[in-house]
Amino acid sequence: MYCRNCGKEIPDGSSFCPECGASQRDDVQVQNVRTVESKTNTKSIVGLVISLIGLLIFSSLILGPVGAIVSYFGYKECKERNENGSVLAILGMIIGGIAFLAGLYIQAMSSYYYW
Ligand SMILES: [Zn+2]
Repeated sequence: MYCRNCGKEIPDGSSFCPECGASQRDDVQVQNVRTVESKTNTKSIVGLVISLIGLLIFSSLILGPVGAIVSYFGYKECKERNENGSVLAILGMIIGGIAFLAGLYIQAMSSYYYW
């Protein structure tokens, strides 16, 4: 076979030209692999972190839903852009929901005691 870039003869099945270093693979395929490998959606991570904080410090009535909403948008972006992080986003939504319910429960309990 011949190099796509410089036209020199190179061994059959080579991924890169030994002469000029140009990739011999399909450019589109290489780009797709790169996107799948590297990108993790930022909102998925942020949403999960907010939900976790909401669960840990129990001011969950605000942080839980905020974390779940950010996670939801992160999940949508993962699907649209084919990015990593949809599992993190789902976790963020679940934990955000639990944090919110825990917050409601704690508030109900404390108002019960104060009455
Ligand atoms: Zn070459």
